[in-house]
Amino acid sequence: MRKLVLATRNQGKVKEFQRLIQEHSQDIEVIGLDSFPELPEIEETGDSFEANALLKARAVAEFTGLPALADDSGLCVDALNGEPGIYSARWAGVHGDDVANNAKLLNQLSGVNERGAQFKCVVALVIPNESGEQVLIESGSISGVIVGEPRGDFGFGYDPLFAPHGSSLTFGELTQAEKDKISHRGQAFRKIAPRISKSL
Ligand code: IMP
Repeated sequence: MRKLVLATRNQGKVKEFQRLIQEHSQDIEVIGLDSFPELPEIEETGDSFEANALLKARAVAEFTGLPALADDSGLCVDALNGEPGIYSARWAGVHGDDVANNAKLLNQLSGVNERGAQFKCVVALVIPNESGEQVLIESGSISGVIVGEPRGDFGFGYDPLFAPHGSSLTFGELTQAEKDKISHRGQAFRKIAPRISKSL
């Protein structure tokens, strides 16, 4: 079996990606960061989704000596000149405080008619080799609007406030499977999966 480390401690994401990879190749085993508890915390110091995805993948590849795949994503709001972008997780101050982030978003768009926004995701694969590394990058994005108040209990982050174009439901009202079919992350992972099986 060829091994691939996915830069996440979420076993659900590991299983999901294993299924996706299996559609292209049966001899790749996807491992999560739970298998490397001693891996230090990786700081996202890049100035773009791509830079952050790459620095995470590179750090995991260097630490494990194995091919590593990492993603970085966020919400870019038209009326806020693309904010919060790479700062999506910690926009309201505390990393991962979804309630505060959503409240800040509604506040900033209060009275604003222009409600367009995109979720963006970049995935980076780093394969260490004798001459250094091989890098593959893919991305995905989905456009929609920021609704007036949170709707739905599924998902995470800004999901309850984002309705993709063509849907009356927010991401928070879609099941995980429905969201994965169209989401920025689903698109990016589906694009890179066939390339991985050819490159490993
Ligand atoms: P990450 O790079 O996937 O960890 O995402 C960074 C932050 O962007 C998250 O903490 C969320 O605030 C936001 N975000 C990224 N993807 C999504 C999504 O699919 N739904 C809702 N929020 C998201």
